[in-house]
Amino acid sequence: MTPQTVNAVNLPLQNALNFPAAILQPPLFDPLAPAASNYGAIGSIIGHEISHTFDSEGSTFDSKGRVRNWWTPADLAHFQAATQKLAAQYDTYKPFPDLSVNGKQTLAENIADVGGVGAAYDGYQASLADKPAPTLDGFSGDQQFFIAFGQNWGQKVREAALRQQVLTDPHAPAKYRAVTVRNIDAWYAAFGVQPGDKLYLPPSDRVRLW
Ligand SMILES: [Zn+2]
Repeated sequence: MTPQTVNAVNLPLQNALNFPAAILQPPLFDPLAPAASNYGAIGSIIGHEISHTFDSEGSTFDSKGRVRNWWTPADLAHFQAATQKLAAQYDTYKPFPDLSVNGKQTLAENIADVGGVGAAYDGYQASLADKPAPTLDGFSGDQQFFIAFGQNWGQKVREAALRQQVLTDPHAPAKYRAVTVRNIDAWYAAFGVQPGDKLYLPPSDRVRLW
């Protein structure tokens, strides 16, 4: 990737991560922004890339970049059950009445999204070192974190382009990437999300991989 590219990538053969300079800029990373929004925005993206090492493809590479099964049978069984549940969750999203997101096609990216935002949230909590989170404009630290994460996925797209993406892209459309917070318990507490709310998932349907 060139320095001007706003993207990031995990390179399993090199066991490496690549974050070009252009992604380490506002609004994704701002040294002057509150920690909550930096963890929610670039932190979730860094977590996403690290998680690719343990997604449905990266999990088949070992620490030296060799294709080798290094999982215990119990871990592999949990991973396969949890990822099947995540694929089924994404199958339920319908950008158009005649076209659903393909949970299998987008599985690796959806694993990285839920792992990434979960790890970034844990990192944010650790950064507070048990001190209360600063509020901003009436928003709690956790609310700032999840708002910044959601703002990563603002998108304007034509119908034809969105249809092509749903059919061919390994990433789910942006709005469905944002709502992976449905799998994160802290998001429910942050915004008081209750049974009956549109995005509510019962705890047993929330997918937690790690
Ligand atoms: Zn990815």
